[in-house]
Amino acid sequence: MASREVRTEPSTIQVGSFTAGGGHVGYVGGPCSVESEEQLISSARAVKAAGGTGLRGGAFKPRTSPYSFQGMKEEGLKLLAQAREETGLAVFTEVMATEDVDLVCRYADVLQVGARNMQNYRLLEAVGKSGKPVLLKRGASATMDEFLLAAEYILNEGNDQVMLCERGIRTFESHTRFTLPLASIPYLHRRTHLPVIIDPSHGTGHTYMVHDLAVAAVAAGADGLIIEMHPDPPNAQSDGYQSQTFEQFAETMTRCQKVQRAL
Ligand code: PEP
Ligand code: MN
Repeated sequence: MASREVRTEPSTIQVGSFTAGGGHVGYVGGPCSVESEEQLISSARAVKAAGGTGLRGGAFKPRTSPYSFQGMKEEGLKLLAQAREETGLAVFTEVMATEDVDLVCRYADVLQVGARNMQNYRLLEAVGKSGKPVLLKRGASATMDEFLLAAEYILNEGNDQVMLCERGIRTFESHTRFTLPLASIPYLHRRTHLPVIIDPSHGTGHTYMVHDLAVAAVAAGADGLIIEMHPDPPNAQSDGYQSQTFEQFAETMTRCQKVQRAL
């Protein structure tokens, strides 16, 4: 169902002011984790001011260590809804478990399925049934075929609002946190009609690389970007080392929009 043979025209996914696909580039910014009202609302305002159309923020966090911050859960979801109320940005947030889908749906505009859950088939079916747009992240060790078959689980439930997110894969190389293959953009565009969103934050794991990879992704035809930014990256509860400041995020937005217009 994701195939170009089924649908030759690119799909466009629109949620409020956010649009991705069919020539539209959706820009999502925000912190890795929702941490407080002040942190989230200031981030949302900065995303909006920079020209972003989506707000990201994790309320349920899949952390490598069980001793790390696990997210604010429903309190975090409430803050995301409050930020949407104030800014009009579409809210993207991760749902980690099937039993949380209903709860997350009450607050989110787009359900994110994280890399670690790309092959959690019951969760894929549940987000498919929810009818909400889904951002499906590529598993860090998933092949393109596995990625596309994971998307089929969602599409098969009658939900055609699926975006594919390349967030980097695990390779032998250690100079970046993951290896971000921008070749995924033309490859996926050839095979599927679904919008392709690039995550240069997890894809590189270093703030200083995010700008260049974001710009390159737009130049390569990405349908959207999802970027981590934070009012105070060194003191972030998660992923501060790959988060942009508000100023850096605004610079990246300006440059990406310039590149987009030049295409
Ligand atoms: C995130 O978006 O913060 C995240 C945990 O992403 P991923 O699932 O790609 O690791
Ligand atoms: Mn993160």
